[in-house]
Amino acid sequence: MDELLDRLRRFRDDRDWAQFHTPKNLAISVSIEAAELLELFQWSLTGELECGHTVAEVADEAADVLIYTLMLFDRLGLDPKAEALKKIERNEVRYPADLALGRPGSVVKRSR
Ligand SMILES: [Mg+2]
Repeated sequence: MDELLDRLRRFRDDRDWAQFHTPKNLAISVSIEAAELLELFQWSLTGELECGHTVAEVADEAADVLIYTLMLFDRLGLDPKAEALKKIERNEVRYPADLALGRPGSVVKRSR
């Protein structure tokens, strides 16, 4: 992770692009790249990759989402791995395995 972040920072700084990497611009860029990723599945009837698109195209757009997301964490001084681990811990509480087994998260209701 550190190696990847160092390389992304070097790419940005070699071009003097940090001035453009405000949290707002990075969040917008995450959303734009996520839309480009979705576009590859736009007319899929099965939910699988079809309509002439390739796994390489999915990888390319997913990498854009990942890169902008990492840059947003970096800009805000957050550790992406630590934040992802905290989120997983919250999701483990929110979606207990015994209630969520085989069911989409949107339909899991916790008993209190
Ligand atoms: Mg893209």
